[in-house]
Amino acid sequence: MLGLKTDWVLEPEPRDYALADYEGCQAKWCPGCGDHSVLNAVQRLCRDERLPPEQTVFVSGIGCSSRFPHYMKTYGFHGLHGRALPVASGIRARRPDLNIFVATGDGDCCSIGTAHWIHALRYNMKMVVMMFDNNIYGLTKKQTSPTTRRGRRTNTHPDGAFLSPMNPITVSLGVPNASFIAQTVDWNPPHLYATLREAFHHPGFAFVRVMQRCPHFTGDNFELFQTDPSKILLMTHPDGVPVDDALIRTFTTRVEHDPADRMNAFNHAMREDVLPIGLFYRDEEAEHYDSYTREGLDTTPAEKVEAMDKLLDLYCV
Ligand code: SF4
Repeated sequence: MLGLKTDWVLEPEPRDYALADYEGCQAKWCPGCGDHSVLNAVQRLCRDERLPPEQTVFVSGIGCSSRFPHYMKTYGFHGLHGRALPVASGIRARRPDLNIFVATGDGDCCSIGTAHWIHALRYNMKMVVMMFDNNIYGLTKKQTSPTTRRGRRTNTHPDGAFLSPMNPITVSLGVPNASFIAQTVDWNPPHLYATLREAFHHPGFAFVRVMQRCPHFTGDNFELFQTDPSKILLMTHPDGVPVDDALIRTFTTRVEHDPADRMNAFNHAMREDVLPIGLFYRDEEAEHYDSYTREGLDTTPAEKVEAMDKLLDLYCV
């Protein structure tokens, strides 16, 4: 399928799978944690897309959501804090035959992992990146994260966080060669699933910010949006995240947004009166760094020696 003459490319026979084929260990997140919802959506996506578990890998950093690989019966790499993306990029460079998903959080991605995040967006290597944003460090017990809202009392800012929070969508939109930037919420399974499915089919780096409930530490974070769906701005467009009649009925505040329009994407992403969901930006023509790293992947040892000899001959005197 990939056209590589190697003996390591897996090409399993297509077959149907059940959800049980993807279910790993029992998830140990708190009851009501939004991470459960994303896990369910991802397992359904894997089943529906008939992804062979032996050809699928989940990579994560550190944080509550980064426990994700343990709960998938696929390959997984639970890495170091903030370092999920370099690991995933390395896997992509050497194994273009694998389906790659990344689970990262607002602390993992937008603080210690920021440099990796920015350059991974620019490198645009094919993978689905789920950024679970609960606006807090949950695993280490309620410290201010880069996306914590002003005024929220945390263990590191008991009088309330006083810096304006980072907006991961506007930051991503500002990165040259970024190619897919979307936002969804964990408490609406149809929109969550449709967004992840769209991300999976994107040919490059698909960044999805999932607004994620953390009932343990920030229980009231998204209460307004859950109790009053008119506070959510549903972005619709034929080239965006597909929405069905049920979503149209649920989210009455809507706007037609063409994901090719980057400047308008900024305008929507910066709104604070509503929470926008949908696809902000998509560019399927952006360059892929993996098309470069793929060069020579199927070179045999004999061909490598021959190439090396030719190179050395250049310097013979
Ligand atoms: Fe989920 Fe928050 Fe519990 Fe972590 S602390 S598992 S984010 S509810």
